[in-house]
Amino acid sequence: MGVKVGATIDLSAIKHNLSVTKQLAPGAKIAAVVKADAYGHGLLPTVSTLNDSDLYAVARLEEARNLRLAGIQKPILLLSGYIDKKELSYAIKNDLQLVIHHPVQLELLAAAEQDIKKPLTIWLKLDTGMHRLGLNPSAFIKAYQQLSSSHKIEKVITMTHFSSADEIEYGKTTSQLERLLECRQQLAAMSNGVDLSKLETSTANSAGIIAWPESHGDWIRPGLMLYGVNPIQAHSELSRKLIPAMTFSSQVIAVNTIGHGESVGYNEQWTSTRSSRIGVIAIGYGDGYPFKAKEGTPVLINGHRVPLVGKVSMDLITVDITDFPDVAVGDSVTLWGKDLPVTEIANCADTIPYELLTGLTSRVTFNYVYDTSSWLNKQSELDDPPTEKAVI
Ligand SMILES: *Cc1c(COP(=O)(O)O)cnc(C)c1O
Repeated sequence: MGVKVGATIDLSAIKHNLSVTKQLAPGAKIAAVVKADAYGHGLLPTVSTLNDSDLYAVARLEEARNLRLAGIQKPILLLSGYIDKKELSYAIKNDLQLVIHHPVQLELLAAAEQDIKKPLTIWLKLDTGMHRLGLNPSAFIKAYQQLSSSHKIEKVITMTHFSSADEIEYGKTTSQLERLLECRQQLAAMSNGVDLSKLETSTANSAGIIAWPESHGDWIRPGLMLYGVNPIQAHSELSRKLIPAMTFSSQVIAVNTIGHGESVGYNEQWTSTRSSRIGVIAIGYGDGYPFKAKEGTPVLINGHRVPLVGKVSMDLITVDITDFPDVAVGDSVTLWGKDLPVTEIANCADTIPYELLTGLTSRVTFNYVYDTSSWLNKQSELDDPPTEKAVI
């Protein structure tokens, strides 16, 4: 019914991308990052395809709660930790693993000891230069000592987060890794009996996994790449292996001809330099298509890359189809997805793929498919398929 403005989510692509991720870091356990509604793909359908991961990482308590309410038993990590007693108690009740990134959280934890029935796993976060969340080295060592002396703590994993892992020529990631290494060595020197080979680490997001193999450690934390988007455009080989899971599409709802020198859309931002056919597509910033998409941003119609003209409106965009006489009302239009990378659209709109994927609005209909044909094709292209995982 009505115009088909929708996001089609290919769940088999997510499963495939997980196996590509595993091949890049064969020795590491996987904390699959499913925050922000699984990067806009839908939390529950997405996790249903991520059985082969070891843990789900979310940013907020509500996200963890939705997973537990759905009966998910897998370990869940709360990346942002907790800010008060109430949040901590809720996290404990829901059997969450917690990031500790601030000394205040240690005080809250000590005060809650008696509520902890099942010993906790804590991810202790060192600030190695991102300066967002994380302890400084002396607070980190002190925190470790406090945690390791409590019988309510089962395990501590040391972690940090990279600020610039997508910048492959820039030394920041190396320096962040060195700071973590140094701090761990200091910790071992100061705490008798700590065996660093047993104290697990986690540093790598998608860009770290792809570009910094030395960062893989015990746990990797892939987000974007699970959804088929490569954060490092220089690694084009990988882009061919990943399958974009989201295809965002709509339809042409009108085709009009305008004369030479006529303008299209709000504020006459674009003016024709010839007699032109203009296609009008039912998509706009009210759906999550970026307002800032500039002239020439491609959309895909019948296999043609057709340029955007004029300003993006709330419900509509306009494209120049003068060179594509076959384009007609009712034709399906891909805004991004398979054959039109979301990263390319993000570049045209001065933003990042993360923002576009997480930005679809409630007006957009989601449709879930399991497109095994594309998946099996790609799967056979992988260098060394992990056999037991490659079966649907
Ligand atoms: C979001 C997030 C990730 C995943 O990052 P991607 O770039 O999407 O792979 C990993 N670790 C932390 C702490 C995060 O917040």
